[in-house]
Amino acid sequence: MNVLVLNCGSSTLKFQVIETDKARILGDQERTLARGLVERIGGHALMSVKMGGDPPVKTDAPLRDHRAALDWVLRGAVSGQWSSAGLGSLADIHAVGHRVVHGGERFRVSARVDSGVISGIEDCIELAPLHNPANLKGIRAARELLGKDVPQVAVFDTAFHATMPDTSYLYGIPYHFYRRHKIRRYGFHGSSHRYLSFRYRTLRGIKRDQVNIIALHLGNGCSACAIKGGESFLTSMGFTPLEGLLMGTRSGDIDPSLIEYLCVKEGLSVGEVDTLLNKQSGLLGLSGLTGDMRELLAEEAEHGDRRAHLAIEIFCRRVRRYIGGYFAEMGGCEAVVFSGGIGENSAEIRRRICEGLECLGLQLDKDRNSALQPASSGVISRDGSRLEAYVIPTNEELLIARDTYRVVTGDWVRPA
Ligand code: ADP
Repeated sequence: MNVLVLNCGSSTLKFQVIETDKARILGDQERTLARGLVERIGGHALMSVKMGGDPPVKTDAPLRDHRAALDWVLRGAVSGQWSSAGLGSLADIHAVGHRVVHGGERFRVSARVDSGVISGIEDCIELAPLHNPANLKGIRAARELLGKDVPQVAVFDTAFHATMPDTSYLYGIPYHFYRRHKIRRYGFHGSSHRYLSFRYRTLRGIKRDQVNIIALHLGNGCSACAIKGGESFLTSMGFTPLEGLLMGTRSGDIDPSLIEYLCVKEGLSVGEVDTLLNKQSGLLGLSGLTGDMRELLAEEAEHGDRRAHLAIEIFCRRVRRYIGGYFAEMGGCEAVVFSGGIGENSAEIRRRICEGLECLGLQLDKDRNSALQPASSGVISRDGSRLEAYVIPTNEELLIARDTYRVVTGDWVRPA
């Protein structure tokens, strides 16, 4: 089965076509036939498409909405441009899997899209006003362009965290706000944390309920997840993705009183402060330079930039604080798993995060850490370390493709 995996943002559309079926899932042998990104939808869009090992093809054109963007993507398949990837026509796309950001309390697992699921996603718009409408645009565009006989599946970013107990998800505000407005921690990056949990147990050859780890998704957005008995027990993003770790442009945890104070002192509206905390804070805000960790590390190394150094140190300490907190709340765990663009690629950041975690029994093996190639999995702690450390590249698209196969066929294949 060829699954078109779609991840629609407010002005972006990311896609992959992944070939999967029971044998491929069991053998962990899916193939990505094509992948790409359309940016700046609504204006003069930029497109980049990659097939197999070929270099990416880049182009640009005005694309007014997500339907036009998906139409552009699918025309590549129809026109034969994708034939080298084994895709001759639209009929070669058998199902569509969508990353949907917010499933509220209703969606605890992935769901085949029908009118009830669409209205459920609509009901969650007030919880994710920027993301869910874009996800719905992707669903509607796929139905219009591929026809209603091509099944679609929604895979929710929040679903993995549905297992959190109320002691993890309630905030210390009057309880009736939870009842009245569903104000609680939902958590995000769920597909990534679920994938990391699966990969970890495969690497270790253990069963799902034996997984007790702290997973760290460190990319532009960052979150930590305490996975206990194979289930999400606590995660750092909250009612929105703003809470928790310091991120590229998001502040993560702050004193909520700062919002009113900033409004008064700077003459800003609440909405403007919200934008400031989401888009101008974090690594970018602290350094005054960039929210991109690789660039910050270069600034620090080449120019000794003080604020770049400060931003990186605060980033690493915040991660360490969460590891320590989660370790205590879980009553100990077996491993810390690094992932995301920063976690997978930067041995330097991993080293700085692990420094000081000897108190929890984590002994980093510096050679293993620096020798690990980008985009590969491996253990980076010393043999005999009481708390182990792993690097595992995440792959949310693969998880979405597998869920799509399972939901569409009803064949709940469990990989080894
Ligand atoms: P997203 O959350 O948007 O999916 P990624 O997971 O791709 O983002 O992570 C992007 C982040 O990873 C950026 O801050 C980037 O600088 C960082 N990154 C990627 N490669 C490296 C590297 N070799 N060293 C340090 N940081 C890196």
